[in-house]
Amino acid sequence: MLLGHPVSHSLSPILHGAALAAAGLDIGYEAIDVAPQRLEPELAALVAEGAAGNATIPHKEALARICDRLTSTAGLADAVNVWWVEDGELVGDNTDVAGFHALARRVLGCPPGCERIALIGAGGAASAVLTAIGDWTGSTARVFNRDSERARRLCARFPDVARVETVMEDALAGATIVVNATPIGLLDEGFPVAVERIPERAAVIDLVYREGDTPWVRAARERGLRAGDGLAMLVEQAALSFQRWFGREPNRQAMWAAVT
Ligand code: NAP
Repeated sequence: MLLGHPVSHSLSPILHGAALAAAGLDIGYEAIDVAPQRLEPELAALVAEGAAGNATIPHKEALARICDRLTSTAGLADAVNVWWVEDGELVGDNTDVAGFHALARRVLGCPPGCERIALIGAGGAASAVLTAIGDWTGSTARVFNRDSERARRLCARFPDVARVETVMEDALAGATIVVNATPIGLLDEGFPVAVERIPERAAVIDLVYREGDTPWVRAARERGLRAGDGLAMLVEQAALSFQRWFGREPNRQAMWAAVT
């Protein structure tokens, strides 16, 4: 089950449908629109039915408060995107974090080293990015958000790696990776920052995904930069969700084939 509001554009049911079919499991995965005030009762009803699932915008942070137990990753990210019941407890994990690792590795073409990240956005996805960067030895992030107070609150949770910047240029200075963690480009042709302003050798990572790449990723590639959109993160967080529910690896090839 995917709990979201609204979830109409989500690829998750397609990804999980492919993984379940490839594993020969006769189990359904569907997206349900849930208003924020209905999260707790809807979840209780699903748990009573023996279901497990994912959560997406805007429920990830609220679900972290509801779960009986969080993995350390979900605790650090303060957000839950995958949930299940274990020994009678509702457990929450965050596989967006490992999804971002996979995406970064794919765009860079190698494991991240000592990186300087310019992070645009300060919501739940930005929190997952900072949680991931915490594992990249020597790496730091400069966070720019249109609401700088929100960026300040986010950075305060990651004092060892993150620092807030109120001017975009300061966030971009010396960046080796520039990450978009806003919805800009999802439903419009907007760019989180003009590609000409991105440092020459930086890699460009867009958490937004869209058929045929996002406009920002296309423009970055045209400038000769390494760039990738959020599809690899979406596929990996779904694959790891499957792994949490069933204790085995899904067929990632089947999952990729379903969405490309
Ligand atoms: P969120 O918690 O609602 O945060 C949205 C962030 O984007 C906030 O920092 C917000 O700034 C900023 N923002 C929104 N509209 C903006 C605009 N027009 N101009 C500038 N900044 C804007 O959402 P989220 O969970 O972090 O998700 C953000 C995006 O990441 C999603 O839209 C989704 O496309 C992508 N995502 C992808 C994956 C994946 O698997 N690939 C996973 C998670 C998220 P304010 O604080 O100023 O409002």
